Amino acid sequence: MKLSEIEQRIQQNWQSVQQEVNTATLATGREPGGVRVIGVTKYVDAEWTAALVRAGCLDLGENRPQVLWKKAEHDGLQSGVRWHVIGHLQSNKVRRSLKYQPVIHSIDSERLLHRVATESSRAGHDTEVLLEVNISGDEEKTGMAADLIDQLLSQDLPQGVKVMGLMAMAGFGTDSNAAKRQFDEVRVLRDKLSAKSGRKLSELSMGMSGDYQQAIECGSTMVRIGSRLFDGLLDRTTGVAR
Ligand SMILES: *Cc1c(COP(=O)(O)O)cnc(C)c1O
Repeated sequence: MKLSEIEQRIQQNWQSVQQEVNTATLATGREPGGVRVIGVTKYVDAEWTAALVRAGCLDLGENRPQVLWKKAEHDGLQSGVRWHVIGHLQSNKVRRSLKYQPVIHSIDSERLLHRVATESSRAGHDTEVLLEVNISGDEEKTGMAADLIDQLLSQDLPQGVKVMGLMAMAGFGTDSNAAKRQFDEVRVLRDKLSAKSGRKLSELSMGMSGDYQQAIECGSTMVRIGSRLFDGLLDRTTGVAR
């Protein structure tokens, strides 16, 4: 496939995703634009990532910090992009990641929250974070139990982090009904924690290519969409760029 065709395809995919997200958002009675699309670019290289930015997607998510660091230095990705860390972040990769001032969706331990806070204070800027909740109860899944998040939010939070809300993933292999139940559970949990702690927790990061419409119905404010944006461009069996 020629580069111009790839570019065009990415543009079309971006536009149709935006349309679907807007339709789903309006259906919940919210303003269009009330749901932010994070383009998850872990399947593709920096060139294709830059094509997605040219199409208009300015929020990019990566689950591997080293890949984020590399892409953030690439032509066409150095400015105007808001980065999102969506995968497990090891403590020893926090400092380097903060250089790009990302939103961190995947705070999955108290220790990581404190590490991000300390390093942010040191760097002289606050970091927006989301607390990842393990809603599926799936042992394999990362994220904190609801009780632990409750405990965390009942204490004074450290300087340097702004806790914006919760992030969750539906359990692996769940059908759309089960996903919807889990997303509903996350919103209910957020409402409860918000009332109890007096914190706003306005963001809910939930929904991926296969379940973002359900997530929006359940109140998601950030959907993390990867494969759908590269429809027709990824190998179905491996999920990586052809
Ligand atoms: C890969 C990934 C996504 C995007 O998944 P798709 O199904 O390709 O849209 C979203 N969130 C996280 C944490 C991911 O690792």
